[in-house]
Amino acid sequence: MTTVGVLGATGAVGQRFVQLLDGHPEFELSVLTASAQSAGETYREAAKWGLDTPVPEAVADITMRETDPDAIPDDTDLLFSALPSDVGERVEPDLCEAGFVVSSNSSNERVADDVPLVIPEVNADHLDLIEVQRDERGWDGALVKNPNCSTITMVPTLAALDEFGLERVHVSTLQAVSGAGYSGVTSMEILDNVVPHIGGEEAKMETESRKLLGEFTGAEVAWHDATVSASCNRVPTLDGHLENVFVETAESVTPADVAEAFERAPTLDLPSAPDPLVEVFERPERPQPRLDRMLGDGMAVAAGGIQETETGVQYNCLAHNTIRGAAGASLLNGELLADRGWL
Ligand code: NAP
Repeated sequence: MTTVGVLGATGAVGQRFVQLLDGHPEFELSVLTASAQSAGETYREAAKWGLDTPVPEAVADITMRETDPDAIPDDTDLLFSALPSDVGERVEPDLCEAGFVVSSNSSNERVADDVPLVIPEVNADHLDLIEVQRDERGWDGALVKNPNCSTITMVPTLAALDEFGLERVHVSTLQAVSGAGYSGVTSMEILDNVVPHIGGEEAKMETESRKLLGEFTGAEVAWHDATVSASCNRVPTLDGHLENVFVETAESVTPADVAEAFERAPTLDLPSAPDPLVEVFERPERPQPRLDRMLGDGMAVAAGGIQETETGVQYNCLAHNTIRGAAGASLLNGELLADRGWL
């Protein structure tokens, strides 16, 4: 078994990591960290646990550690990070320098030139950027990122359409409250309401998508030259980001071409990889967050409402933001790291 830890294990994403790692066939969770306020408590005491399953017994009595290289046992093979990005920015490089491999959700360094930003089914080859990173930074460890939750919802569908020559993407999101973290949006802000602004989210969708869809040359990632414009909205659903996507391609495509391309999206032989990756609905009112966010155990992307527009095609897509969009995404990157011999 590979020994793993979770950094920021008491938050919205950290709890999902703990839930997904319970009974994992390859990874054994033995290290849990959070802020200094939680250190010394058992996980059961420290975790806010707002999920629909009980705190796993295997970890409930583990003592929380501080998030610091000195507090983590040297024989921990892989660390999953669910830290706030300002904390990740400070701590993750120290951990990598100390020799740990970190598979991280936090937004810091996602678009850095020598940091692999990976969705395994889309750009697994970008993982080899670790060689460049180790050369440049002198690390024995490594830092690998997964994209933002709204980006990861749409990019598997964009990757499938790139065979037609992706040129322009416009996307409008309807994002669940759990995407803002455990204490991110108050009930007074979001009940009976929609907030048409999520700080920094639009820029993340625009940049991360182009890096993910870019080509790894062996030395760097040449970003895709499609233009991506995003408009991000917070809505009062609990989990599951729904997105309305408008795409223009060099070749003209029909809705049937789009559905077939989605159905051909690749799947991988890794424990958390869904099959199919993209589930296509014919009924125009699907997908919906409450009905469809758990497809593929929360790791699949659902798509529907495919139709022609005057300039191309439009469709809706949906993914579970704390599973495929966060903890599940890092976990799948961890499985890829293990499979490719990086641990
Ligand atoms: P969260 O609910 O606020 O949880 C934050 C976690 O970090 C908690 O475990 C907290 O521990 C810990 N922490 C806070 N300050 C710390 C410090 N100074 N040192 C060490 N640990 C500290 O946030 P979240 O929603 O889980 O998000 C975590 C990360 O994932 C963020 O970078 C976020 O942008 C990213 N992300 C989130 C989502 C999503 O859907 N929520 C999706 C994609 C990416 P205590 O309990 O001890 O305070």
